[in-house]
Amino acid sequence: MTSTNYDVIIVGAGFSGVTASRELSNRGFKTLVLEGRNRIGGRTWTDNRLGKNIEIGGTYVHWNQPHMWAELTRYNLQVRESPTMEKAYWIKDGKVKSGTYEELQEKHMIGMEEFLKGGRDYFPRPYNPFFDNTLEEVDHLSVADRLKAIKPLVSKDVYSILESTWSEYTSTDDLDQPGLAQAYRWAALTGHDMNQFQDTFELFSIETGTKSLIESIANDSKADLQLSTPVSVIEKTDKGYKVTTRNGSDFTAKSVIVAVPVNVINNIEFKPALPAELRQFSSEKQSSRGIKVWAKVRGLTTSVKLKAGPEYPVNSAHAEYIDGDEAILMGFGNDSTLNMEDPKEVEKAFRHWLPNIEVIESAGHNWVKDEFSQGTWGVLKKNQLSKYVKEVPNTENGLFLAGSDFAKGWVGYMDGAIESGITTSKRVEKYLQEQELALAKN
Ligand SMILES: Cc1cc2nc3c(=O)[nH]c(=O)nc-3n(C[C@H](O)[C@H](O)[C@H](O)COP(=O)(O)OP(=O)(O)OC[C@H]3O[C@@H](n4cnc5c(N)ncnc54)[C@H](O)[C@@H]3O)c2cc1C
Repeated sequence: MTSTNYDVIIVGAGFSGVTASRELSNRGFKTLVLEGRNRIGGRTWTDNRLGKNIEIGGTYVHWNQPHMWAELTRYNLQVRESPTMEKAYWIKDGKVKSGTYEELQEKHMIGMEEFLKGGRDYFPRPYNPFFDNTLEEVDHLSVADRLKAIKPLVSKDVYSILESTWSEYTSTDDLDQPGLAQAYRWAALTGHDMNQFQDTFELFSIETGTKSLIESIANDSKADLQLSTPVSVIEKTDKGYKVTTRNGSDFTAKSVIVAVPVNVINNIEFKPALPAELRQFSSEKQSSRGIKVWAKVRGLTTSVKLKAGPEYPVNSAHAEYIDGDEAILMGFGNDSTLNMEDPKEVEKAFRHWLPNIEVIESAGHNWVKDEFSQGTWGVLKKNQLSKYVKEVPNTENGLFLAGSDFAKGWVGYMDGAIESGITTSKRVEKYLQEQELALAKN
């Protein structure tokens, strides 16, 4: 079956695809969005679990993220602040240490300052990573390289906390993969201010959930949307593109935006094939492979911050809600074999710090095993920025790539997804207008 001809088909209804659909459909372009899942939102997912609306995927937002903040302003959405922590537990040389949150924070800041020292020399314009040639000096280095370099300069305590932080921020236990350039760019985007850096990563979430934002954007879109419709083939034709879904339906359009995570681009067959570099980027994958897990626990009455090395299944966590003698912990880790729905397994992972707690319910989603993401948030590996991102989005003839993995600024974040949705929609608009003009001339 071949359906109505569209001006543009957008594959993927995450923040990037939905933003692009709003922009293009409101400029009068006939737009169709095809989404593999049975919901919009992609790697963000506000779901009712553990008796609360919790974020299973992307969560934190900040006014340092201009595209995100513009959307929150537009739809009048408010932010919620995570609770102030009181106690802290961290693991050094296999032994649990404890202190006040301030004590942990002091060590954390000493480590971050040392780690990011010299970072000011890079990304003078963080939204234009190729503005000068300084990127070449660091893009071959990994987060592990920098950790190794500063290890002799900081105390063991500081080092173990720092390792935990970078494993959390980069969503992997293999710190030789994520590029140091990514860390320096985050620092540049947050004004090289360590407090701003940390606040941006872990303080404010959307009060009514990421769901409320993506639904606001989708409600402003005039595009047609089909859920539970994975795309399997995208083929160039004389008139544009034919898009075939897994259930065998065909749709045609003058142009296509592929707004799926880079890790899963190769799951779609392109005719003709995509440029070799792009296929290589997709098979190499970005570096994130961690987990995010939620646990409702009994036996915890103080708000806590928990830190451990990358080798622990959950290596960074905090109490997001405290209610009498029950609390809800949210943690990040690297063991993608952990069954996050099994309270007993999750309890074991948290008992390294808190031997007396009982996990009564737990929740999470394995984004690494998920066929539509195969990773968490996009963290570019060393060399990927210069090798792929510089050139890759320039596919030709009406086929465009969008998504947070291809953003200019906040790569891997919701802000980056929105940025990419907006900029890609303008490129598609220009392309379609040029096509119209060419037709009119003939
Ligand atoms: C655990 C976790 C924590 C995170 N924390 C934060 C955070 O605190 N702050 C932040 O800003 N960001 C965070 N992120 C990252 C953020 O969620 C993403 O960067 C952003 O949502 C990506 O949007 P996107 O539109 O580029 O991609 P996606 O959201 O991945 O959307 C792509 C869409 O394409 C669909 N798709 C894939 N293949 C096909 C196909 N063949 N056919 C049809 N559809 C297909 C997918 O189902 C998906 O809906 C986090 C992500 C995770 C997983």
